Amino acid sequence: MVDPSLADGFKCSKVPNRVVHKWLPPPVDFYKFNVDGAVRRDGMAGGIGVECTVPRDDGTLTTYVGFRVQHDNARGPMKGGIRYHPGVEPDEVNALAQLMTWKTAVANIPYGGAKGGIGCDPGELSLSELERLTRVFTQKIHDLIGIHRDVPAPDMGTGPQTMAWILDEYSKFHGYSPAVVTGKPTDLGGSLGRDAATGRGVFFATEALLNEHGKAITGQKLVIQGFGNVGSWVARLIHEKGGKIVVDIKAKFIIKATNHPTDPEADKKGVVIIPDIYSNSGGVTVSYFEWVQVNNELKTYMTKTFKDVKEMCRIHNCDLRMGAFTLGVNRVARATVTRGWEV
Ligand code: GLU
Repeated sequence: MVDPSLADGFKCSKVPNRVVHKWLPPPVDFYKFNVDGAVRRDGMAGGIGVECTVPRDDGTLTTYVGFRVQHDNARGPMKGGIRYHPGVEPDEVNALAQLMTWKTAVANIPYGGAKGGIGCDPGELSLSELERLTRVFTQKIHDLIGIHRDVPAPDMGTGPQTMAWILDEYSKFHGYSPAVVTGKPTDLGGSLGRDAATGRGVFFATEALLNEHGKAITGQKLVIQGFGNVGSWVARLIHEKGGKIVVDIKAKFIIKATNHPTDPEADKKGVVIIPDIYSNSGGVTVSYFEWVQVNNELKTYMTKTFKDVKEMCRIHNCDLRMGAFTLGVNRVARATVTRGWEV
């Protein structure tokens, strides 16, 4: 049966773009802000900023500001990571929340999009300071998240331990709720392989692209920019498959592994570029397997999604970036209309 979102009925000529939010005056320790382009239909469209004051190990107090932006829930509960980084600010979180909406739609998993973060340098905080900060943040946002509402996950600067603290703090308010976060430690119901999942997804996306061009990873020269959680796993998997990792770059194919690494203007003519909302969707896809507690489906999803994106490119005669966004926007639009919501 043909996937209806690939049918030529819902043409999208625009890709979503980074938007500017309007600030509202902050009350004492939290404020809601409007997010242009946020289309959530059940009351709150936009973001929340919360002040998190935590005792440091030396007895002083420090206040950090955290955010959660909820972008769209047409296709299911909103989904997206929480990042701890000094550069976290609402505009960035908003852009990342929107990307999650398109990413979950491209991956065809039943979620919407959200994102959160705290402006802090996790490397400068001790483990117990990080725990206190995470618990205070959870106390401030626990009413906004939930299994059927908004499900956080790890992102830059956070990991399974952070998710375990969120789960624990959330459960104090709502009863034991392991599915309120994904990317938790396996002891608490996390998925085996979630740590590697984004990198593994990038690896499968690379393999799908190379196969399409009659090539294999074995014997291929590949360049990897970045060596964090994603880059290091891609490097390992490519090495295991017999690919050769080299430095300094004259690439025919570019596979974007991080979230919005470049603007459309940077897309070079003559270079095939796999868009981030497809290639790094492995993490959130395995989050879905964790949420529904199944494993080992990632390759099937990544390979099928590659075909779907290519089909969009064929139908609309466009490049992969436009094909991926068109597919995501189409699926969200279909869900929106089907649920009887206004477009
Ligand atoms: N933070 C990851 C991303 O940007 C995963 C999100 C999730 O699993 O919800 O895709």
